[in-house]
Amino acid sequence: MSYIEELTTALGKEKVLVDPAERFVYGADWSPRTPDEFFPPDVVILPRTTRDVQRTIKVAYEHGIPVTAGGGLTGMLGGAVPLFKGIYIDTTTMNSVVEVDSKNQTIRVQAGATLQEVNDAVHPYDLWLPHQPESKWVSTVGSAIACDNDSTFGVRYGKILNCLLSAEIVTGTGEVLELGHRKAHFTSSGYKLKDLLAGSEGTLGVITEATLKLEPIPATRRVDMLVFPRLGAAVDYLSRLLKAGLCIEAAHINCKRRLKFYTQTYKQKYGKDPEIPAWGEALLAISFAGDKGVVDFQRDEAVRLSKEFEAQLVEERELVDSWWTSKYTLEFEPFKQKWPDSQTKKKFGAADPGVPVGRLEEFYHKFVEIAEKHRLDIIGMNAYLEHPNSIGFSLSCAVYVDYRDADEVKRFREYHDELSKMAISFEGTMSTFMSDTHQKAPYLELEHGASLRHMREIKRLFDPKGILNPGKKFPREESP
Ligand SMILES: Cc1cc2nc3c(=O)[nH]c(=O)nc-3n(C[C@H](O)[C@H](O)[C@H](O)COP(=O)(O)OP(=O)(O)OC[C@H]3O[C@@H](n4cnc5c(N)ncnc54)[C@H](O)[C@@H]3O)c2cc1C
Repeated sequence: MSYIEELTTALGKEKVLVDPAERFVYGADWSPRTPDEFFPPDVVILPRTTRDVQRTIKVAYEHGIPVTAGGGLTGMLGGAVPLFKGIYIDTTTMNSVVEVDSKNQTIRVQAGATLQEVNDAVHPYDLWLPHQPESKWVSTVGSAIACDNDSTFGVRYGKILNCLLSAEIVTGTGEVLELGHRKAHFTSSGYKLKDLLAGSEGTLGVITEATLKLEPIPATRRVDMLVFPRLGAAVDYLSRLLKAGLCIEAAHINCKRRLKFYTQTYKQKYGKDPEIPAWGEALLAISFAGDKGVVDFQRDEAVRLSKEFEAQLVEERELVDSWWTSKYTLEFEPFKQKWPDSQTKKKFGAADPGVPVGRLEEFYHKFVEIAEKHRLDIIGMNAYLEHPNSIGFSLSCAVYVDYRDADEVKRFREYHDELSKMAISFEGTMSTFMSDTHQKAPYLELEHGASLRHMREIKRLFDPKGILNPGKKFPREESP
């Protein structure tokens, strides 16, 4: 019996897609690629339960078939693309809520639930999951963990790992494991294997369920924008706010060019881009949330302190609202509200390096220089505060890429690699929210040195035959 026949017998026909037309859509994600760079899997599994995933992986293990798990397929670096074909597990069919425990402020969900579905389930209890990337409408819990994406509210609540209490996975041998500490918020027992899942890209196991910590929904929120003469001044200002003891909810620095990407609704209404003072080089969007009196006090204090940094408050509320709509309340129709031509012309491509905070401005100039060198049209840089109550940025260095132009796609990849390596030379990291995928795999040793050997050993423990998402993190020939 072929392995696909075995899967059909084990799972039932309705959970196994073999029709080429149905498989085709699983051959690419949102990463810049030419139309001929599609990798449709040989078979797609639509699981309902952990048992379905376990059965699938056991068959794959027996036959040595690659297994790639995916969620919304909106990753921007090819993480869920099944480069070596084989089996694709579409986890979005596993989106049930297992338990909402409002007293202990936790939710247990299947990993294919989107972050928005989690919030829909817990809002009636006046609770929310604050891990909120822009793509919350499609990003699943499993993929948020597996690619370690960023969040609009990272400066207050951190990233997904700060919310993740426990996760169930199926390893590369088909073993089901629970990693974590149940509903306790932290532990000092054992090794923290759960933390290995953040950014693991499905290379250690397929995540099937997760227990997440929830937070009370704040009563009010106030969003403001400030213009700064330099990027570095916006960084210093944020540092000052934290020193003063303010509890910032969201903080996003946009370089001047990048702002336009977020103000499409403004442009649609007024037929022009918003006006920013000619001296303004950076725009900081910042929010405070909580009881109204506390929010008002913090906001007024933040405005008062901004005078020390030659910053100017943006008085035009429509501009602020337009930015916030695009960042947070955007109905997810990918990019259309940001950049209406995105479905037909050039698309979005980004590198996501991380650098020490004191060198952000210097790195920004390198980003512009390298993008220009590779003749790419610059969208701009965003720096998001992602570490609770401290200065720690994830960076999105974005350019436009014409997918129909193979040379431009090639130049984008060269730009991406150069910027990633530059970040390491700045004493930073290649990735802050997209993980490594196959794109950064050749350079992992540059960032991790000898410890890469131990990472391979960890991979071997969870996935002895190297069948889980091969080619990601390690070139396939280096996998077990
Ligand atoms: C319009 C738009 C806005 C975006 N905004 C943001 C943003 O604000 N912040 C941000 O960080 N990113 C953003 N992204 C990028 C992307 O959407 C996110 O990174 C998102 O987390 C990807 O989710 P997904 O479900 O589409 O993952 P996929 O692309 O399907 O998968 C991502 C990775 O997770 C792995 N994976 C998925 N499910 C599992 C599982 N159950 N077990 C093990 N591994 C699994 C895959 O193999 C792959 O490696 C945006 C993308 C778009 C198109």
